[in-house]
Amino acid sequence: MAEKLLEIKDLNVIYETDEDTVYAVNGLDLEVNKGETLGLVGETGAGKTTTALSIMRLLPEKVGYIKKGDIILDGIDIVNASEDEMRSIRGNIVSMIFQDPMTSLNPVIPIGDQIAEALEFHRKDLNGKEISDKVDDILNLVGIPPSRKHEYPHQFSGGMKQRIVIAIALICEPKLLLADEPTTALDVTIQAQVLEMMRELKEKLNTAMILITHDMGVVAENCDRVAIMYAGEIVEMGTIEDIFEGKFHHPYTDGLFGSIPDLTKPTRRLKTIKGLMPDPTDLPSGCYFHPRCEKAMDICRKERPKICRNNGHMIKCHLFSDNFGV
Ligand code: SF4
Repeated sequence: MAEKLLEIKDLNVIYETDEDTVYAVNGLDLEVNKGETLGLVGETGAGKTTTALSIMRLLPEKVGYIKKGDIILDGIDIVNASEDEMRSIRGNIVSMIFQDPMTSLNPVIPIGDQIAEALEFHRKDLNGKEISDKVDDILNLVGIPPSRKHEYPHQFSGGMKQRIVIAIALICEPKLLLADEPTTALDVTIQAQVLEMMRELKEKLNTAMILITHDMGVVAENCDRVAIMYAGEIVEMGTIEDIFEGKFHHPYTDGLFGSIPDLTKPTRRLKTIKGLMPDPTDLPSGCYFHPRCEKAMDICRKERPKICRNNGHMIKCHLFSDNFGV
């Protein structure tokens, strides 16, 4: 049986400003097994990045708060860990790759020194030569000649900068990698190369990954399981086969697939999901998707749907009951 690495239960995260409270994550449940890749998919504002920042405990200070719930990573209670404990966990057990490599790197420090920094902090047992050798190894792994480690970020292309960011994230061989739209800022050919490299690295180091994206193509090629997120909660989760080939889906997942153009047929207009994501300061009653759902019923406006499961496939919708499709 697959061994659990990350377990999130009933996670609720808010952002508090002087005027409003933003309900960013609302009762999120998620599990990731060792070595597995989970795709976290949803529109902008669905709460994907907030979920990742909560796992890293890097929510903006005095604004973002975990109000409720548990995050257990490799047996560690992340929500209640001290700041000192978190410093030894970040970069070591869990690392994060941010969307824009331009802003993730320090422009005035050579890239080799930036990669070495995490090792110097977490691996006090290594001497200077061993650290330098490890930096060379990871640069080779991400396809950058180690001879360039004394160069600065501006001397590299966008794709190479993202490879450097990935090298920094993986240098301590974390058990979990949070990749937040890691290739969105790159053009399509470089995107394919970087994703291929991430896949190889992941296999070599047996790192589990949460791949945050809104690109179903990226999910299909890189993930073992998929979680579809809407208004701060997971509305459907299953294996790649459940999501891409299964008959039963949450209406939001159907909408996402419906909006992908079919290149084999002439299409005059692209299909969209009507309406917008709800205002996170004022979420709708009942099912958060009901104002946009073509299948909404009376109960959907009044009652929160419960989670329905069929083996590993889960859907949160009033249209389903447990063991749906059986
Ligand atoms: Fe649509 Fe109702 Fe299901 Fe929500 S619970 S997705 S409104 S059918």
